[in-house]
Amino acid sequence: MKKKISISFIVLMFSLLTIVGGASAQTVSYKPSLVHKNGAMAYEHMKYIAYEIGPRVAGSANERKAEQYIQGQFERIGMESTVQDFSYSRRGSTTKSSNVIAYKPGKSSKQIIVGAHYDSVSVGRGVDDNASGVGVLLEVAEVLKNIPTPYSIVFIAFGAEETGLRGSNFYAANMTQADIKNTIGMINMDSLAVGDKMYVYGGAGEAGFIRDQALEIVKKKKLNVGTNPGLNPEYPAGTTGDWSDHAPFIGLGIPYGYLESTNWEIGELDGYDQTVKHGGVWHTGNDTIEFIESEYPGRIQEHLSSFSTLLTELLKFMNKTSTSK
Ligand SMILES: [Zn+2]
Repeated sequence: MKKKISISFIVLMFSLLTIVGGASAQTVSYKPSLVHKNGAMAYEHMKYIAYEIGPRVAGSANERKAEQYIQGQFERIGMESTVQDFSYSRRGSTTKSSNVIAYKPGKSSKQIIVGAHYDSVSVGRGVDDNASGVGVLLEVAEVLKNIPTPYSIVFIAFGAEETGLRGSNFYAANMTQADIKNTIGMINMDSLAVGDKMYVYGGAGEAGFIRDQALEIVKKKKLNVGTNPGLNPEYPAGTTGDWSDHAPFIGLGIPYGYLESTNWEIGELDGYDQTVKHGGVWHTGNDTIEFIESEYPGRIQEHLSSFSTLLTELLKFMNKTSTSK
């Protein structure tokens, strides 16, 4: 009898947790102490999204689970968040997706957008592309929660990137002129884990102030992060192509920064072949923790830690050398 009661009690508690928290925190093996070890919480988020949930194709039930997880994490962190639903049609069928948006007020109401897409393709687990970026986004949001930052920060987990930058396009298209004027930059994170080298990119000239500031921090913190060497004239040194969620913001005249791991010195010199040993890992069955850790032991941890440190410092000290606005 005693046993029976306790089981019903557990079931009841579980139902309550499920009702209150949705797909959120109860199965995440996070410890608050991990937050202070750069990259450690990012790793837990990455693993949860890629394994407890799995591949997250735009419009799928798994993409919704990831959306709920991210919103649940913003709630746990204590940040207000909203879900921005959108839909798009392709070849006669309509797909529904959403962006998860959280706001952190800063000393100035001028804002920086920090984004990473949470959807994936159907093969592999979408670990590198892009549970890694979402992991760093959530970790940095938690680290900065109670730290004053010069600018307000809009954290956005974008849906449906892989089907044509749908979430970031929708968000950008719905910004008012006042929003656009109020936004000093957009920092995108996409595929941080597996590439041979860690990079930060930005626009050409003054529009590259986020990259330039990031490279100052890299020097000070002795991080192993560089920028596109510019071996390919189509992608000048320091910049990158318009293939991820930063692109719609460039279209609005908002300067971008972009964190990524790949290798610009191999293949077609277009940043597409991420590794010397295995070429591109994104969008393949190799985009799993098992593969990356057996082929590149310690790489995921090093990358998440470096990018987390870099983004945190960048958001804390963005105004120190900014020449824009
Ligand atoms: Zn991606």
